[in-house]
Amino acid sequence: MSLVSERDEFRVGDMGPLYAAFARTAAEAGVRTALGTRYTGHQDDTFLLDAPDGPRRVRAAFVVGADGARSAVARDLGLDHNRHLLIGAEDVFEITPGKDPPTFHCVLDPSLAPGYLAWVVNDGQHAHVGVAGYARRFPDGLHAALERFGASAPGLAGTDRPEEIERRAGPVPVGGLLHRIGCPRGLLVGDAAGAVSPLTAGGLDPCLRLSGHAAAVLDDALRTGSRQPLAHYDGRALRARFRGRLLLRRGLAQVRTPAAASAAFTLLRTPPGQAAARRVLFGDRSFPLPG
Ligand SMILES: Cc1cc2nc3c(=O)[nH]c(=O)nc-3n(C[C@H](O)[C@H](O)[C@H](O)COP(=O)(O)OP(=O)(O)OC[C@H]3O[C@@H](n4cnc5c(N)ncnc54)[C@H](O)[C@@H]3O)c2cc1C
Repeated sequence: MSLVSERDEFRVGDMGPLYAAFARTAAEAGVRTALGTRYTGHQDDTFLLDAPDGPRRVRAAFVVGADGARSAVARDLGLDHNRHLLIGAEDVFEITPGKDPPTFHCVLDPSLAPGYLAWVVNDGQHAHVGVAGYARRFPDGLHAALERFGASAPGLAGTDRPEEIERRAGPVPVGGLLHRIGCPRGLLVGDAAGAVSPLTAGGLDPCLRLSGHAAAVLDDALRTGSRQPLAHYDGRALRARFRGRLLLRRGLAQVRTPAAASAAFTLLRTPPGQAAARRVLFGDRSFPLPG
């Protein structure tokens, strides 16, 4: 059984078809989906759910925590939890298809996005306008920064904003993959496991890759009737391959003034800087897997 909150009901314009396709594939494989249902705790191998029609109890051999950066499942299994978080918010709205070519603008300005960056992505159908950074460093808070950035963001000249704008916001773990992400009773995936690139804060691709690995481990455990395969679901080994990105995250966190941001851009304009940016932003090795 997978748990999805009501607000996830395939509302997100560009991700909707992907979510719907995954849900269909899962249903065909026998998964039951319970919308609007929250996990609230457990007593041994009985898990407590708060469903729209009242509380439910479900027995399960294993539990998978796919419940985001502040995972209750991680807490209940005694696994690691994210301590190093950014907060981010973005507005997503439809644009006239084909008016401008798809473009990705990054803005490094510590007053708009302290310790991270502000962005405008034109994906051909939607504009995504967002900011993220360390919560305590936003001069007037996250939403004020997004309003300010939205008013002057690059690439939006002549773009009319429709009435319907979707705003997404939430914590983004950037401390790298957590050490203890599995135990004999279950495991964590996605943001709950800290599977987010510490530098780009991109979590979708790492989430899918780690989930594939988790599914293989659980499949092994269920087929063999042994909890032993979960011992190999170990964040420590995978985390070692994030070392370079963790170092770069520390560097980006230190960009605290416009002068430092300008210096960073000067470096990024050099051929090695451009090659590094291309690898970080458009490379396809966002997440290392065993083997
Ligand atoms: C503003 C913003 C922009 C982003 N942009 C990008 C991007 O462009 N590219 C990219 O790769 N990544 C991006 N990310 C990161 C990306 O969204 C996450 O890494 C990704 O969504 C992680 O997926 P997840 O399923 O692990 O967690 P989530 O997407 O957080 O999903 C967790 C789900 O668990 C549910 N849940 C929580 N607690 C419970 C409970 N007790 N019971 C039942 N359900 C529960 C929540 O309601 C939620 O639906 C962005 C993040 C933010 C905040």
